[in-house]
Amino acid sequence: MADRISINDLTRHASSAETAVWSSVERVLRSGWYILGKDGEAFERDFAEYCGTAHCVGVANGTDAIELGLRSLGIGAGSRVATVANAGFYTTTALTAIGAEPVYVDVDRGTKLMDLAHLARIVDEGDLDGVVVTHLFGLLHDMEAVLDITDRAGVPAFEDCAQSHGARRGGRRAGGFGAAASFSFYPTKNLGALGDGGAVTTNDTEVAERVRRLRQYGWESKYRVGVRGGRNSRLDEIQAAVLRAKLPFLDGWNRRRRDIATRYSKEITHPGVECPPVHGEEFVGHLYTVVSDDRQALRAHLAAASILTDVHYPIPDHRQPCLAGLGNRIELPVTDDLARSILTLPCYPELSDEEVTRVISCVNTW
Ligand SMILES: *Cc1c(COP(=O)(O)O)cnc(C)c1O
Repeated sequence: MADRISINDLTRHASSAETAVWSSVERVLRSGWYILGKDGEAFERDFAEYCGTAHCVGVANGTDAIELGLRSLGIGAGSRVATVANAGFYTTTALTAIGAEPVYVDVDRGTKLMDLAHLARIVDEGDLDGVVVTHLFGLLHDMEAVLDITDRAGVPAFEDCAQSHGARRGGRRAGGFGAAASFSFYPTKNLGALGDGGAVTTNDTEVAERVRRLRQYGWESKYRVGVRGGRNSRLDEIQAAVLRAKLPFLDGWNRRRRDIATRYSKEITHPGVECPPVHGEEFVGHLYTVVSDDRQALRAHLAAASILTDVHYPIPDHRQPCLAGLGNRIELPVTDDLARSILTLPCYPELSDEEVTRVISCVNTW
């Protein structure tokens, strides 16, 4: 039996930046300061500079980053926010916590990103308070086209960059286009911590300041609560130091992910498997997903060769059981169709060339 190729392997990833990560953890341990200190500030500075934004505010995870980011833009109870239904329910979780209503937009079959013609129709109907654009699977959406639509209507655009750290279009990176943006540093993301972590980036000083307050009980200064709706959502010093140590490696890891994705797109030639096109810097290969009418059979064929796959995501937001019945009242034909037919192949920087070749041959001999 051939060695197993997993959908991801963080033990391999751990050894790829081990020295830098260990010395950061050790430094924080000895510093005696574990929450909101020098490493957090330094990481926020470094990551803002990397993204090309004026501000970065660390928070506890990517879902909080969406929630606090949206709240800081004035999204509140009863707000209507356009978003996609194929991105794992994270934005819907944040909107539900706020008491805002998701207005689902279908996706484009080719990019699997928000369908901008559909968005334009929804924006034209009026009565929208915001738009969350998810750069799904690592592909930065055409934000200039998004902003053409949202700016015209005076609606803020928010970017969910949890899968797209470092993706670039026209020299600008994900997280620097919208009114604000969220990142997750969950361990499997392109830039991952040794636990949970997240951040909000923005060029708006007031928005950044509101997130800083919201992440710490609403304090405007110690023990003085200036804004309602605050909570405890801080990025701790160990995670910040680890992320800071890993950040210089991110572009190299992203290049490797993109090279693997490029090989898949060029060398997978099976007529029953639809691959995404070859992308440039706008794609950072977070997940490599193909489309097949018989996903289950393809999945079983790969599993029989010890190649593990996954489905991102099997249940669209509007069909989740907790939103009972909503799915029958909303029409998102492309979203529904893709949920039945997408399949994610292994794509992470530590895969060897031989393993990539094995995945390709296995798909082609299906
Ligand atoms: C991972 C992810 C999130 C949530 O991040 P957490 O840190 O797990 O809360 C949000 N949006 C997308 C698209 C994600 O992939």
